[in-house]
Amino acid sequence: MSLANKLAEERRARLAAERLLEQKQAELHAANRKLGRHAMALSEEIVETRAEVQTVRDENARFRSDLSAANQKIQIAERRLWHSIETIQDGFAFFDADGRMIAANKAWLSVFDGLEEIRPGIAYVEILQIATEEGVVDIGQQDAAAWREAMLDRWQSPAPEAEIIRLWNGQYIKLIDQRGHGGDVVSLALNITDTVRYEEQLKDARRQAEAANKAKSSFLANMSHEIRTPMNGIVGMSELLMDTVLNEEQRLFADTIKSSGEALLVIINDVLDYSKIEAGKLDLHEEDFDLERCLYELVTLMQAGSRDKGVDLSVEYDMFLPGRFRGDPGRIRQVLTNLIGNAVKFTEAGHVIVRATGVQGADGMTELHVSIEDTGIGIPADKAKHIFGEFNQVDEARNRKFEGSGLGLAISQQLIGKMGGRIWVESEEGVGSTFGFTLTLPAAEALEAEDVHLPEGLRTVLVVDPQATRRAVLERQMGALGLSVTGAESGAAALAALPGAVDLVLTAHTMPEMDGMELAEAMRAAGHEMPVLVLSADPDVAEQDPARAHVQGVLPRPLQRSDIFAALRGLDGAFGPAMAGGGGRAMRVLAAEDNRTNRLVFSKMVAALDIELRFAGNGVEAVEGHHEFAPDLIFMDISMPEMDGKAATRCIREAEAKTGRHVPIVAMTAHAMGGDEADILAAGLDRYMTKPLSKAAITAEIAAACPAGVRPPGAGVQAAC
Ligand code: ADP
Repeated sequence: MSLANKLAEERRARLAAERLLEQKQAELHAANRKLGRHAMALSEEIVETRAEVQTVRDENARFRSDLSAANQKIQIAERRLWHSIETIQDGFAFFDADGRMIAANKAWLSVFDGLEEIRPGIAYVEILQIATEEGVVDIGQQDAAAWREAMLDRWQSPAPEAEIIRLWNGQYIKLIDQRGHGGDVVSLALNITDTVRYEEQLKDARRQAEAANKAKSSFLANMSHEIRTPMNGIVGMSELLMDTVLNEEQRLFADTIKSSGEALLVIINDVLDYSKIEAGKLDLHEEDFDLERCLYELVTLMQAGSRDKGVDLSVEYDMFLPGRFRGDPGRIRQVLTNLIGNAVKFTEAGHVIVRATGVQGADGMTELHVSIEDTGIGIPADKAKHIFGEFNQVDEARNRKFEGSGLGLAISQQLIGKMGGRIWVESEEGVGSTFGFTLTLPAAEALEAEDVHLPEGLRTVLVVDPQATRRAVLERQMGALGLSVTGAESGAAALAALPGAVDLVLTAHTMPEMDGMELAEAMRAAGHEMPVLVLSADPDVAEQDPARAHVQGVLPRPLQRSDIFAALRGLDGAFGPAMAGGGGRAMRVLAAEDNRTNRLVFSKMVAALDIELRFAGNGVEAVEGHHEFAPDLIFMDISMPEMDGKAATRCIREAEAKTGRHVPIVAMTAHAMGGDEADILAAGLDRYMTKPLSKAAITAEIAAACPAGVRPPGAGVQAAC
């Protein structure tokens, strides 16, 4: 090989070695850089971890200091609580679920008077044992073992009842134990000695007071009874004395003895009644009685006294209220006598009206309201309650001129209360008072629709009375019968009103200038022929009046409903078609309704109409009525006994198929459900009305059904016939 070749070879080898070195160096550099980066990441991680470790360490330290602070707080709270528990006067102890004492305050422990065994750790059962053995509790005659067993039973129950025990020293302790969720028991022992003693004293005082009151009542009852016998002798003998020949002075003396004796008897009777009620010896005697008669009798009796003062006393008895009820008539009369008597006594001018109304329930019971309204001296608002108390009067000075024991209202209130009712008063001083009571009594008889039957054609009444309240009462009563009413305050005013449509005149007898009889005479002279009824407090005198021939009847005052109805029945036929002003016969209406009250309401609603009304009490009677009475219109109740309204209508429609007639039948139903209507119409009824019925709706149905050639029903009926 040539040198040149060798050199070249060597150069190439060197160059290759240099390149290899260069390459290795580059690789080493890259590896170094990578290592550097890794080292950097590692050291960062270490720093971070270290910081974290520090944080955890810090937190740990803080937590530890918090814990000790909390512990401290708990200890303070516990100390305070225990301190409070120690301070309270009542006993306080805790027990664990096994019934072992955890702790007890001084008051609790003091009961055991320093006995060492009573300390935390002792079982409840042991405490009971010690309590009996050491005589800490006074268990009287009870057996100690039985007592302990009962006490332990109580203690072990989930919610022990409070228990009162008596200690050896006469103190009373009330034990209240509360079981917690884990079975722990908190036990409170309250010293209630003072309360128990006080209660005993109260009971004693009450026993004494009741005994004294009973003794007083029976003493009063006995004494009143004893006084009554000689008083009867005095009153009776003075009466006999007055029948003998006496000079005027002697007669005055005897009369005074008699009236004083009577006044004293009234007071003694009050006292006797009151004592009887107080002593619980008053019994009620129930029987059927006529409330309406009772009211009229009382008012008639008291009218003499009120008339002397110029006070008008009248009765307004609801036209549709039953007259007879079942109750204690004597006691009801007593209450009424007191209330009406007071009203008359405390009224110097104006009027006293006794009103009786009522709401009839479906069960045959009537909620009766009786009120007595006066225009007397009234009662100050702050005294309204007071006057129902015993011996209480509004004020001594004011009452000095009125006699009375102050017992009447107290007795009335007790009596009404005993009968299950309520008594009340509304009053305004100087204006007047209204006393009233409500009682729920069974009606002894229902008022029948026939009782309030009005003569055909009677629609309008003229009431003549100078006394405004009496006139108002009469107007309301006539209005309630469905009549249209006008009032006049004198004969002259009545004559001036007469050219208007008036079917009947009801007039007072005694009137200034022209009395009732003279009015009738003047009416006849002026050509007015309608019947006249005269009301008189003294009917015998009125009957003797020379103008009696001009009037159709004399009615006694106060006016009873039965007298009104009898007089009106007596006028049947007096209001003929000519007077009613229409031609043809009256329209015939049949109403099928099984309920008496509803019949009454129905008849009242159509009372003013010029129609002939007949009732059917069930479906069978309705079918018969349709056959015999040939009504122009039938009102049909749907639910009735024996045959209901739908069945009755089907029968009627079947019968009609032979005659070709079709009487309109209007259903009266209490149901207002959607499906019922279709059902009712399918039975052959033409229309239907839902209860409660309205006067306007009934009147409209009647007017709409009036056939040609029949007298229009009239009384404001708009529809043409
Ligand atoms: P007496 O009427 O015997 O005093 P009451 O118990 O009946 O006893 O009435 C108690 C008092 O109530 C009456 O004395 C009177 O002051 C008052 N009082 C009762 N009724 C009325 C009345 N209608 N108007 C005004 N005061 C009345």
